[in-house]
Amino acid sequence: MATQAYYTWVSRGRHFSRPTWLVEIKARAKAAGVPFLGDLGDEAHLKSSNPLDHTPFSNTEYPLALSDYWINAIDLGDGPWSDRLLADCRAGKNRWVKYLLFRGKSYSRRNNWTQQSGPDQHLHISGMTDHLHDSIGDYNPFVRTPAVHSPGTRTLREQSPLMQGEDVVFVQKALDMQSIPADGVYGAKTANGIRWFQGSRKLEIDGICGPATWKAFGIAVRY
Ligand SMILES: [Zn+2]
Repeated sequence: MATQAYYTWVSRGRHFSRPTWLVEIKARAKAAGVPFLGDLGDEAHLKSSNPLDHTPFSNTEYPLALSDYWINAIDLGDGPWSDRLLADCRAGKNRWVKYLLFRGKSYSRRNNWTQQSGPDQHLHISGMTDHLHDSIGDYNPFVRTPAVHSPGTRTLREQSPLMQGEDVVFVQKALDMQSIPADGVYGAKTANGIRWFQGSRKLEIDGICGPATWKAFGIAVRY
């Protein structure tokens, strides 16, 4: 059931603005190859009787109610940057972040960044309405740590923060029949690919790339 606010917004031409932080985060994510999943909500989202931050007439405006049409949230692919954003919020940085949702968890400024359950597997970032014009400066949570891990030098498993490195790229390329992106991040798809590989080699199926799995890839184990 669409709200009156929705019809008013449509009648005014569906205009909306993006906060400075969102524009900058979007550009920096794109430069790092992180998928952009959207910022303006889809039509069902916009027509919802409970419009949230992807709606330019949100009823969750906090701490300021906005008189103009701003969207205040962005959805991105999940990765180690989600953990970095959260760590930096907890360290008192990122004044523009209101809450983060990723991997089925929710972390908000109002809850002092404690972990609650959340609806999204992708990374959702909502902004503070009193920090619309904040620039993120040279902040870049998407920067990759240098890949220093060679294949066979450690056990890879799905954990938080997600493991990354050249060894993960090796595994992803070796699993290329499973259409796993070779992004160097050991997430759920890679762990599932490892399960498939372990099953095909009669290994214990646990999604963890340890010594036996490395050997099955033909890699000498060096740890
Ligand atoms: Zn979202």
